[in-house]
Amino acid sequence: MQQNWRAFEREHIWHPYSSLGNPTDLYAVTSAQGCRLMLDDGTEVIDGMASWWCMIHGYNHPRLNDAIERQLHEMAHVMFGGLTHQPAVELAQRLLDLTPEPLQKVFFADSGSVSVEVAIKMALQYWQGRGKRRKQRLLTIRYGYHGDTFGAMSVCDPEGGMHRLFSGILPPQLFAPAPVTRPTESWDSADIAVFAQLIEQHADELAAVILEPVVQGAGGMRFYHPQYLREVRELCDRFGLLLIVDEIATGFGRTGKLFACEHAAVAADILCLGKALTGGYLSLAATLVSDEVARGVCAHEQVFMHGPTFMANPLACAVANASIELLLEGPWQQRVNAIHHHFEASLKPLSNNEHVAEVRSFGAIGVVEMKQTLDIARVQQGLIGQGVWLRPFGKLLYAMPPYTIEQEELQQLTDAICHVVENL
Ligand SMILES: *Cc1c(COP(=O)(O)O)cnc(C)c1O
Repeated sequence: MQQNWRAFEREHIWHPYSSLGNPTDLYAVTSAQGCRLMLDDGTEVIDGMASWWCMIHGYNHPRLNDAIERQLHEMAHVMFGGLTHQPAVELAQRLLDLTPEPLQKVFFADSGSVSVEVAIKMALQYWQGRGKRRKQRLLTIRYGYHGDTFGAMSVCDPEGGMHRLFSGILPPQLFAPAPVTRPTESWDSADIAVFAQLIEQHADELAAVILEPVVQGAGGMRFYHPQYLREVRELCDRFGLLLIVDEIATGFGRTGKLFACEHAAVAADILCLGKALTGGYLSLAATLVSDEVARGVCAHEQVFMHGPTFMANPLACAVANASIELLLEGPWQQRVNAIHHHFEASLKPLSNNEHVAEVRSFGAIGVVEMKQTLDIARVQQGLIGQGVWLRPFGKLLYAMPPYTIEQEELQQLTDAICHVVENL
């Protein structure tokens, strides 16, 4: 490779949510092991992000490596149109076993955003199949994040999701205020009032409600009361709407339950899974639907017009199977609880800091919300100096490490956060 590959990169390569004219700092990773990333200058940092929520077992895990290697020697890929393979069928079985009974059909996609597109398309097609063509809009809550493709973007938070760049192109969806009752507070029924009003007023044009259960991730790292989700489920039933639950960030244990819906004992009509599905190894997502939804989608012998090239990629399915097996046989819940208690104990003192608006945690997620927008580059430099990798955004400094993080690593992670906040 060219000596000046970093210079080449700055000229030619886009990174997430960045401007080519005004690039952010980039750190080059040469390898990763357990919860640690090795940088090319020899620095080792603890990954407090689990590579955007997905690397739940840590890097370079022998079981996951082995699953990929074994599948690689059978076949790396084969089209899913007209062909099938065991890793996909095995994975579908596992997902149906783990999720609530009503969910019975699986559509594999190649990324979370695509699984959300699939969910939205299915919801619209369902109502067509049921002869209610007016039901075409979606209702959601503020501060959501569902991906960066157009359908998904239309239900992201209208401000954080940059709707103004594409107004006139995005389908106009309905937004209720975000829930404000925290999981630890006692439920206030006023919290759902506006949502209930919207659903009642617009039921005949609404196809579905879509939301992230209990934890809103990239749209603001907010946690809300499970009763809100229960009431959303009841309202959907009462007014004839489908409920699309986006567990792409929360699925596979992050919130202390295998799926965040379990906090409310609620089943979705359509469920999106992704991120930690493959233990962070490869891009894969799934949209699960109930028999009733599937029947509506396929009424009058309609086909479902979607088929990603890499649908149900065998390598991704094989590593997903291994990752789920590994998760279920290990003490994931104790680990998530231990991380939670550590965040509670070690980050809470920051609430007294003059720059801090609020400290909160839920499951293996720790959030320090500042009063002012953070200088990301400076904060990141400070954290790297303390041997820690985080990617703050806006006013939010947050961590969600691999579940396998060691106690000393966790301590180093929260020490670094405290150090950086105290030295702002
Ligand atoms: C990350 C995320 C998505 C999008 O998934 P991609 O794989 O990045 O397309 C959708 N919904 C939620 C809740 C997410 O956290």
